[in-house]
Amino acid sequence: MTARVAIVTGGASGIGLAITERLVKDGLTVAVFDLNDCAVAAASYAVDVSDQQQVNDAVARVVADLGAPTVLVNNAGVDGFKRFLDISLDEWNRLLSINLTGTFLCCQAVIPHMLEAGWGRIVNISSSSAQGGQQLMSHYVSSKAGMIGLTKALALEFGPQGITVNTIPPGFIDTPMLRAAEAKGLLGPGGAEAAVATTPVRRAGLPEDIANAAAFLIGDDASYITGQVIGVNGGRNTG
Ligand code: NAP
Repeated sequence: MTARVAIVTGGASGIGLAITERLVKDGLTVAVFDLNDCAVAAASYAVDVSDQQQVNDAVARVVADLGAPTVLVNNAGVDGFKRFLDISLDEWNRLLSINLTGTFLCCQAVIPHMLEAGWGRIVNISSSSAQGGQQLMSHYVSSKAGMIGLTKALALEFGPQGITVNTIPPGFIDTPMLRAAEAKGLLGPGGAEAAVATTPVRRAGLPEDIANAAAFLIGDDASYITGQVIGVNGGRNTG
């Protein structure tokens, strides 16, 4: 995989950071698009993925700084917890614009470079909540379900051009996002420990668990896998 240029969104924290570290270890040149700096990437770009101008400008800078990107991991995301009837239109739009529209914008900006190369890998980090539903997260769940649909549609459209598109819906991964939800009491009684007790493999997921799956999907061994939903969730969701 040496010499390939990858963009990882949300690569400054949690799952995205683990994916960045893994791809760097695998020999890729990694650019991170995040609101925050990432020290382990070859280059870190301050990008709000929901802003089309920022995304397009940053992709142009990656091309100039590092070369044309042919790997894209859409991982930047925010969560949200609210009763459905209390979700304002602004809150709904914010979740959709970062999680789903951000994925759309990054794909639109990067796919032309993959088409030129005749090769590309897109991995979208959705959520197991989109497979099983999740109380108090209807806006988040909808944004992540949209990522799964987008993954399948892009796989069909760009498969003939050598681009694979897959999605990993993580379940219960120990990251700052998860711990922030726990600190607010949003994981329910017993917090993370109680959730671990009902997870078939009896542990929380690690960001590296997602990075392992992403690295596989990006590698040449996965060239016949596209349009797939690859659950990494300790058996919490087998649907
Ligand atoms: P995290 O630790 O909060 O990392 C997410 C990163 O994305 C943060 O650096 C965050 O910056 C950045 N970000 C947020 N909004 C952005 C924007 N508009 N543009 C660019 N960067 C932005 O979260 P995580 O747990 O690693 O989650 C990574 C992805 O996995 C998310 O899409 C999440 O929905 C998904 N996921 C996580 C779990 C889990 O159990 N952890 C389960 C299912 C799905 P700030 O910190 O400044 O916001």
